[in-house]
Amino acid sequence: MAERKRYPKNNKEVIKSYGKHFIDEDDIKSVVKTLRSDFLTQGPTVRKFEEEIAKYCGVKYVVAVSSGTSALHIAYITAGLKKGDEVITTPNTFVATTNMLIALGVKLVFCDIRLDTKNIDESKIEKLITKKTKAIVPVHFAGHPCEMESILKIAKKYKLKVIEDACHSLGGEYKKKKIGSLKSDMTIFSFHPVKNIAMGEGGVVCTNDKKNYERLLKLRSHGIEKDKKGYNSMVELGYNYRITDIQTALGLSQLKKLNKFVSKRKKLADLYKEELRDERNIILPEEFKNSKSAWHIFVIQVKNPKYRDELIKFLNKNGVGTNIHYPNVYSHAFYKKNGYGNTKLENADLYHKTCITIPLHYQMEEVHVVFISKLIKDFFKHVK
Ligand SMILES: *Cc1c(COP(=O)(O)O)cnc(C)c1O
Repeated sequence: MAERKRYPKNNKEVIKSYGKHFIDEDDIKSVVKTLRSDFLTQGPTVRKFEEEIAKYCGVKYVVAVSSGTSALHIAYITAGLKKGDEVITTPNTFVATTNMLIALGVKLVFCDIRLDTKNIDESKIEKLITKKTKAIVPVHFAGHPCEMESILKIAKKYKLKVIEDACHSLGGEYKKKKIGSLKSDMTIFSFHPVKNIAMGEGGVVCTNDKKNYERLLKLRSHGIEKDKKGYNSMVELGYNYRITDIQTALGLSQLKKLNKFVSKRKKLADLYKEELRDERNIILPEEFKNSKSAWHIFVIQVKNPKYRDELIKFLNKNGVGTNIHYPNVYSHAFYKKNGYGNTKLENADLYHKTCITIPLHYQMEEVHVVFISKLIKDFFKHVK
């Protein structure tokens, strides 16, 4: 025990940031092999990557694109979202989730969050539905799955589309089903380096619907398809959201380590919970029952918001990187200017004032978790 708690002096680098990718020699070899091949941009490796994601998640079709954000964009277009439609979503997310809806002229309807998982509160969705509501966009915050059964039931009752922003939850499971394989219309993952696997930039849309799949392929590449004679024909406004063979070569090699990545994250998260169990000044994250979190981030909350910024400063001063996930979307300057500034949601507003993301990633060891936990406990010894 004493040995485990000894902190290796020269190893503080890995906790300078709340999240970090992990690249090994196999990853490097995989990319170099592609550089020596005939394909740089969209070629056979992109296709292979899509197949492997489909297999991993248990979904029929996967379209790989340049980022999670572009994946959201073409998924929203494919869902038929347009100017004047309303979409119900969570304020506790990265702005990309909502930015791409704003880009289509969609009106956002923010639903409050649950205080346990900090995900959209499914029990509050139904009363937000109007004649203009077209879709629900749940986000599996921190990797913890949303209550998808209820969400999909509501969607079915009111004929709404469901697009899961699963950027945090690659490798997670909802009631024994992999995230990506549920009965939503589409599910999005991101492969930005802080996410569970890294590709530099990259994203995918997963779907079980062939029509969605075909439309996504078109939108990824300028809205161009082959006509009956086999000639290129641009049939709708599309984009260049293609991803390269270089990036997906890295993705393929990272995917082989995904289970290892997720189980290490879970192990470290469990240790945080054990180390901080008796610290009464904080609230620990909870895993959703019958589900498996992908543990993208580890967020603690201070019970008294008054200590939040002080604790952040204290951790940073001691070499521990932190972050805030997330400022509520409606509190950003752009959203305030665009009519969302008066939004008030009790749980989301309270949560935001108390949250601190502390380091959790594959390169960390138990000693780091013990060290960070001890800092937190030390901090509260002094403020009491
Ligand atoms: C990272 C992230 C995105 C955007 O993904 P990029 O690949 O960075 O474009 C969207 N939504 C959430 C919840 C994210 O965490």
